[in-house]
Parts: sequence; C-alpha cells; structure tokens
Amino acid sequence: MNRVNTVTLPAIEAEIAYDVDVAVVGGGAAGIAAAIAAVRNGARTLIIEQRGFFGGMGTVSLVPAFCPFTDHEKPVIRGIGLELLLEMKRRFKSDYRARFEKRLDWVPIDPEILKRVYDDTVLASGSAVLFHTSVTQILRNENSRRIEGLVIHNKSGTSVVRCGYVIDATGDGYIAALAGAPFQKGGDDGELQPGTMCYLLTNVDRIRFEEYLKESGDTDQIPLAVSKAQENGDLPHGRKEVSGFAWVADYLVGVNFGHVFGIDGTNAEDLTRGAIDGRKLVEIQVQFLSKYVPGFEKAHVVATGEQIGIRETRRIVGDYVLTQDDFLEMRSFEDDIGRNSYFIDIHLATSKSKMEIKHLPPGKSHGVPYRSLLPVSLDNVWVAGRSASSDRVVQGSLRVMPNCFAMGQAAGTAAAMAASKGGSNRDVDIPALQKTLIDQGAWLGEDVQARVNGSRAD
Ligand SMILES: Cc1cc2nc3c(=O)[nH]c(=O)nc-3n(C[C@H](O)[C@H](O)[C@H](O)COP(=O)(O)OP(=O)(O)OC[C@H]3O[C@@H](n4cnc5c(N)ncnc54)[C@H](O)[C@@H]3O)c2cc1C
Repeated sequence: MNRVNTVTLPAIEAEIAYDVDVAVVGGGAAGIAAAIAAVRNGARTLIIEQRGFFGGMGTVSLVPAFCPFTDHEKPVIRGIGLELLLEMKRRFKSDYRARFEKRLDWVPIDPEILKRVYDDTVLASGSAVLFHTSVTQILRNENSRRIEGLVIHNKSGTSVVRCGYVIDATGDGYIAALAGAPFQKGGDDGELQPGTMCYLLTNVDRIRFEEYLKESGDTDQIPLAVSKAQENGDLPHGRKEVSGFAWVADYLVGVNFGHVFGIDGTNAEDLTRGAIDGRKLVEIQVQFLSKYVPGFEKAHVVATGEQIGIRETRRIVGDYVLTQDDFLEMRSFEDDIGRNSYFIDIHLATSKSKMEIKHLPPGKSHGVPYRSLLPVSLDNVWVAGRSASSDRVVQGSLRVMPNCFAMGQAAGTAAAMAASKGGSNRDVDIPALQKTLIDQGAWLGEDVQARVNGSRAD
C-alpha cells in the first residue's frame, strides 16, 4: 500500500507526567541493567517499556536461552547481568536448579520466572517503572545536542517525561534516530539478518529425546531429522538444523528454529508479516517435530513470541565504531566499559546465503569502549544494547543479551555520574566510571582491573 498523503497533526497541550534525572527507554536486557545502575548510583530514574513486562527479546520474543556469560574460562559478563542470571537460576524448580547450578553459558530462559526476576530487581532498585507506554517523540530545542524530554503515549493519553539524560535501550536506536542521530542499518545492500519466531512447547520428553540422539547419531540441533524432512517436503529448505532447543523442564522446551526473511524490525508492515509468517512456520515445524523426532510426538505449543525475534536494525554511529578488526585482534581501549567474547553470529540474510561464524580462542575477549555508546550528534544520550556503535560484523556478536546487560550497566552508571555533576555524556570521568563499574561487580578485562585494583586483576 502506497502512502501518498500527509496531514499536519494538531498541536496538543501535554501534561508533564514525570521529571527525572535519567529516562531509560526500553525494558530489554540493556534497559533493565541501565535503570538499575542509574538508580543505584543515585539518579532519579524512570524506565519506560511499551509492553506490560520487562525482558525485550528474551521474554517478548521468547528467545530461549542466555548466550554465554564466560569466555570458556571465566565469567566476563558480571555485575548486574550475572546477578539477574543467578537470581533466575535460584528460582528454577529444584531439579533444574541442580542441573544448571554450575552453568553460566547457554542457560535456558523460563520466561515467566525471568519476568518476575526483572520486576523484583528493578523495583527493589528504586527505579520508577512505566509499562504499556511508548515513547513516540522527543523534545529538543532546534539544533540542540540535548534531548529535553520524551513524549509518551499510553492508556492515560499523551504526556511528557522531562529528563536530564536519556538512555536509548530500544534495541533499534529509535530515540537517537528520532533526534536525527546518524545510523547505519544492515549490509551494503540494506540486507538484514532474518527474524525468527521462537516458541515454547510442552508435552515433550527430554529423556526420550536424548535417547533418540544417542541411538540415531543425530546431534542436539537434529540436522539428520531436518534434512530428512526437507527431502520429504515436510519442511521448507533453508537452515539445515535447529538453532537451539533450551529445555526449561523435562516436559517444556524453548525452540529457536528457522528464519523469516526480508523483515525490517523498524517497519510495522514487515513486523506484521513476520508475525503471521512466523506463526505459520511454527505450525509446520511442530508437525515436523512430532512426526520425526522421538520425545516430541505429543508436542503442544504453549506460546509463540508476541513479536518475531529481531536480530538487527539500526546501528548508531558513535564516537567510536567497533570493527571486525577490533574483534579479531582482541583490542582493548583506554575507555573499556565491558568485554565481549561471544562469537560473530551473522545469520543468513536470504535462504541462499551462508551463515558467518567466527570464534575467539577460549579465555579471550575484546574491549567495548565507552565511546561506542555515544551517538556522535547528542550530548545527553547513550545508546546501549543491540544498536550500539559497531560495524555490521561486530553487531552480529555484540548484540547478545549478556553484552547488552554490560553495556546497559555502563550507560546507567555513566548517566548517574553525569546527572550528579551536570555536563555532557562526554564529560564523564572515565577512570572514575571504570572504578565504579568494577566496585559494583563488572569485569573490564585484566588491564583495567589491574589498573583500578592496584595489581589485582581478578
Ligand atoms: C531469534 C533470536 C535468537 C537469539 N538468541 C539469543 C540467545 O540465544 N542468547 C542471547 O543472549 N541473545 C540472543 N539473541 C539476541 C538478543 O536476544 C537481543 O539482541 C537482545 O535481547 C537485545 O537486547 P536490547 O536490550 O538491546 O533490546 P531488546 O531486547 O529488543 O529490548 C528493547 C525493548 O525496548 C522496548 N521498546 C522499543 N521501542 C520502544 C519505545 N518507543 N517505547 C517504549 N519501549 C520501547 C521493546 O518493547 C523492548 O522490550 C537472539 C535474538 C533473536 C532475535
């Protein structure tokens, strides 16, 4: 459908509903950590989320597991992210708690437990919370490099949040883009990683499934069963295996399987098609699983994602743009606020292209500089999470939830420091920020840890 006409909307008088030091937009991994960090460091903080719960992709889109918190030797993501992971595990039923007691990598997400963990932890921090609320506009004086306020829309109507500082944790760099900040999106031809409709199945049998794997020689991504079904026309061609099963209980499994192509997560029509085509694909996949895979004979869909899972949209152009070379050379930066050791995981943009996967050696990581959170044209905004400043290849790695927690914690801490002194996001004292992050549990790599702790690089 072509949009040919425009109208000018009437100006409205809006109530200033909130006046805060730090407004966090988006309640995914980055936003939750940002809000908790900002309030723990003394800022009056409000977090705004368009859904009725926290978690972003991990709960909205049922992404079924947390990517590794470790570099295969030690945890590299610590601080608030690790605290939240441990609390989710603590609330697992006892058998699963025991199963995952020692694991920090690929821990399955029980979405309802996770929502409660996020509610409790954010509320305990003292941050104000506004669910069912979208930020639709920003307030800014012409040519100013600062956002003065956010226009929000919810059941109460349209109102304004006045704020000193903003953390854009929308996953789409939406607030920075509204403020005209430059960004990049996708590859050279605008291609984007595909979306995936994740889902939860019950009435499945983990023990029987594992027996099948042993007997058949299939691996836990069941490539043998998938290719057989593709040959028989029971599954569409494309991805040759399931991306991942995450068993939340012996009878309940989260599934990340298959792709929907050509979905731009910043376009409402594309998201609509993604939802419809994604659910259609799930129906086909469940028929396949029940026919071909022992343990899934009676599988029953509990839920599909409320939104198709989106892997990439905008990448904001920051004061520093992390590059593939930085990743491969495992570079550190003076202003590191986190470390990333997750592999580059770029899912094919079309059903014919190949997956790109690049791993760092065990025990290795690269730095994430503070400057990669700062949109070049804005002085009181941080972009944390999936849209932080990097090239497309690094985004394929940096985007995962543990990293988003680390970036969020850094942005929230920096915003609180800025709020206490005034000034811009670029005036934040980097050694003081690094010290605060480390004191509050974050891990910034051996060099920064040693510098901050004297010689102790724990
Ligand atoms: C299919 C798939 C599988 C994945 N697998 C894994 C995995 O196994 N492990 C892993 O760790 N990561 C995985 N990821 C990546 C990871 O889930 C995301 O990259 C990560 O959740 C991004 O976090 P975020 O906080 O930046 O954004 P999001 O999680 O997208 O959160 C952004 C939040 O902002 C809210 N929001 C957006 N705009 C507005 C607005 N205008 N007003 C109010 N609220 C707004 C949204 O509702 C959302 O809750 C996967 C992603 C996908 C799509």
